[in-house]
Amino acid sequence: MNSRDTLKINSAGHLEIGGADCTDLAKEFGTPLYVYDETHIRNMMRVYQDTIKEAYDGRGLVLYASKAFSCEAVYAIAKQEGIGIDVVSGGELYTAMQAGFPAEKICMHGNNKLKHEIEFALDRKIGTIVVDAYSEADMLDEEARKRGIVQDILLRINPGIEAHTHAYVQTATPDSKFGFSIADGTAEKMTAYLLQKKNLRLKGFHCHIGSQIFEKQSFVLAVEKNVKFMSDIKNSLGFVTESLNMGGGFGIWYTQEDAKLTVKEYKEYLLALIQTLKKECGTYGLQLPFIYIEPGRSIVGEAGITLYTVGAVKEIPGIKKYVAIDGGMFESPRYALYHSKYTALLANRANDTPTEMISIAGKCCESGDIIAANVNLPKAQTGDILAVLSTGAYHYSMASNYNRNLIPPAILVKDGKADYIVKPQSYEDLVRNDLIPERLK
Ligand SMILES: *Cc1c(COP(=O)(O)O)cnc(C)c1O
Repeated sequence: MNSRDTLKINSAGHLEIGGADCTDLAKEFGTPLYVYDETHIRNMMRVYQDTIKEAYDGRGLVLYASKAFSCEAVYAIAKQEGIGIDVVSGGELYTAMQAGFPAEKICMHGNNKLKHEIEFALDRKIGTIVVDAYSEADMLDEEARKRGIVQDILLRINPGIEAHTHAYVQTATPDSKFGFSIADGTAEKMTAYLLQKKNLRLKGFHCHIGSQIFEKQSFVLAVEKNVKFMSDIKNSLGFVTESLNMGGGFGIWYTQEDAKLTVKEYKEYLLALIQTLKKECGTYGLQLPFIYIEPGRSIVGEAGITLYTVGAVKEIPGIKKYVAIDGGMFESPRYALYHSKYTALLANRANDTPTEMISIAGKCCESGDIIAANVNLPKAQTGDILAVLSTGAYHYSMASNYNRNLIPPAILVKDGKADYIVKPQSYEDLVRNDLIPERLK
């Protein structure tokens, strides 16, 4: 298990999260069920923002990268905590606005923002848009001109750092679809282009070097490359960087192969980043920029678990044992996408010693529908409550209705109290947008 004091085994031998017994939650809300621990979400938002306060005189803002888990309640928590958010689509922006999130604290990303998404962002007066293409810069400048405004922007650059992470989730390698490369000069050219735009105000740069990164050195290197670029661009174009967004990507615990960081230890990433920034800006004689960081996974990932009920158990003698649950790739797609690893336990018999290596199979008609392979478990029986840990990020947000399965509801627990933050879907929801043309009737 991870090292959260809000996730533990209680005296009944049951898994407990946020003061709530998981077997009770399964009974009350049914399974599959996404469960979020509010305290952990808040603690993670705070540790980053407090570090900026302490180590950088508060001259920065944490933006929760909401693609990790987007719903109105999580935006409401971020708003209460006083941090900002980033969004990557009109849908995320809409959800945040519905939750009453302050527009000026929203930053919009995307390598191919659609015209209606840009119009929506400008109409809602969002704080910052991160530009990632010439065509987008043109469109954005034109739409801002039509509205008589000057929009604050950052330019997405690619510092060319290979972060230590899974290859599928790397974004800053030279062949990335994201950003303009520092190394090949396109970042400088694009900067010059943006500076000519009358209705765009370039504040600085953004980079995001990958995800599930534990290596502090990757962030240190990225800062070094960025500051060198800030200096070069000041010398060549006279442009002074006011803001620097260093992206997210801080790793979390999924299995014993991963580091088990306490909330406080996440401070170290940011301190390393800030210390490097101060040192490098000193070396080049640059003013310290306002900084943004954009953690997503590390804020909600370990805060979430998924509860299932065990159904069929099937053993292929000498080969493998499958424990099937009432979920699957429709609500837990990361194994199917990246072969991600997880830790699971039986929530109703949490003290039982794991005795066998099994794979957890979903209920979709797809042999790749495994949600975790090679998991150590006690002998599971039909009716057991299975908990998969660290499912708070990129699970609900990537869920689908594949096989017309219902996307599970999500609940938020705190001090033993549990509330829906995403209601259960119904079969009516599935057919809500279906139409039968006259000629088929
Ligand atoms: C995905 C993403 C993040 C968040 O990454 P995590 O690994 O979830 O922390 C931050 N910034 C950008 C631009 C992203 O695409």
